Amino acid sequence: MRRLRSVKIVATLGPASSTYEVIRALHEAGADVFRLNMSHGSHSEIAERHAIIRRVEEDCKSTIGILADLQGPKLRVGVFANGEEDLVEGAAFRLDLLDEEGSATRVTLPHPEIFAALEPGAHLLVNDGKIRLKVEACGTDFADCTVLAGGTISNRKGVNVPDVVLPLAALSDKDRADLEFVSDLGVDWLALSFVQRAQDVIEARELCRGRAAILSKIEKPAGVKAFEEILEVSDGIMVARGDLGVELPVQNVPPIQKRLIRRCRAAAKPVIVATQMLESMIESPMPTRAEVSDVATAIYEGADAIMLSAESAAGDYPVEAVTTMNNVAEEVESDPTYTEIIEASRAAKRATVADGIVAAAREIAETTDIKAICCFTSSGTTALLTARERPRVPIIAMTSSVNTARRLALTWGTECVITGELERFKQAVVNAARAARARGYADATDQILVTAGVPFNTPGTTNILRVAPCDERLIYNTDPE
Ligand code: PGA
Ligand code: MN
Repeated sequence: MRRLRSVKIVATLGPASSTYEVIRALHEAGADVFRLNMSHGSHSEIAERHAIIRRVEEDCKSTIGILADLQGPKLRVGVFANGEEDLVEGAAFRLDLLDEEGSATRVTLPHPEIFAALEPGAHLLVNDGKIRLKVEACGTDFADCTVLAGGTISNRKGVNVPDVVLPLAALSDKDRADLEFVSDLGVDWLALSFVQRAQDVIEARELCRGRAAILSKIEKPAGVKAFEEILEVSDGIMVARGDLGVELPVQNVPPIQKRLIRRCRAAAKPVIVATQMLESMIESPMPTRAEVSDVATAIYEGADAIMLSAESAAGDYPVEAVTTMNNVAEEVESDPTYTEIIEASRAAKRATVADGIVAAAREIAETTDIKAICCFTSSGTTALLTARERPRVPIIAMTSSVNTARRLALTWGTECVITGELERFKQAVVNAARAARARGYADATDQILVTAGVPFNTPGTTNILRVAPCDERLIYNTDPE
């Protein structure tokens, strides 16, 4: 599916988008990656959606990324005898470990390790931060709190504890079971929720055993604090603004978003901006001006991907939401100011031969009439480095690995073509020229750039940069073997 934009769109699937027809329509409207949210949906529903995505991929002759999002250590209160209670400001409210239904004065918080970590003065946020509790006194099995901001508390509402680094295992038993299930099913990205430290990522990577790339969701103060170490051991990042805006004052989210996007680009790792991008479109076919501006801002900042959550998973207008994102992206990217901003924020680091080659490719493409940069890549690294340069011409990643191609679905400006295993450079150039022509980027009179590593199929050997004609006869006549 050829796109007229470089930023990628991630659409979360759910009850509003679980049929072949809707998933295909979402892809045709612009979704490049589908997110399976493991917090909702049974394993059989997840497997069904996974199979449909792969069918759409085949029918549309596309490369589609699948991202499975693990729930992570999300804390929840127990249930109430009345289903819900109203907490009023100034009232006392107790959290404990009792195996009893809750009332207006107490409820179970079935996480003993939390009580051990709590201290008087800590804040607990319930129901997306709408209810705020302050811990006055606590012990190993209770916390007596004062209600700072009241509201309705109901069965199994989520609890955030921003002030404390929680001594929680990065992966709950449910997460481990889900991880195994989706890794076996065959997903391209595994997203980890509430990452607090690099060790959380390392643990998940060990369990995943290379079956998927690992994406860390930054949604806790601890994750923001340890961001550099987390980035180092992750393959990608999500700015998970939903929980981040609960755990930190909301006004802290935009500067964090800006910084994380820059750091990810410098590290050549894809970054997703997520949550409430087009929230009003859950119920309305039209976005608000502020939402359109938010989507545009993420693109101007250089995000690799922008994401829809409830808008595509449970809203009334899932396809319209994708179309809106697509339209905003096309408009922003054709604005000369966008190119100016993106090019002004290019990292200057040139540590390796591959860095030098991709930078040279971008420069040559800018100074000459080049139609596309075709990079041969087995692990995807050269494509990531090329994307970091943010060239003005399309990037075509040529790879023999379908897994690499699907992972790159999240990366800015990168289109993938699956090639056979290559042995000779001349064949590679011919394949690249054919791909650029088949995609409509070039015709026989045009030139493209080809980057590759010889010997082939050895990761980390990028050492060739060739300005090549798109006319196959010319290539056969002039190129070395
Ligand atoms: P979630 O993560 O939708 O899984 O909560 C995203 C976020 O918190 O923004
Ligand atoms: Mn979250």
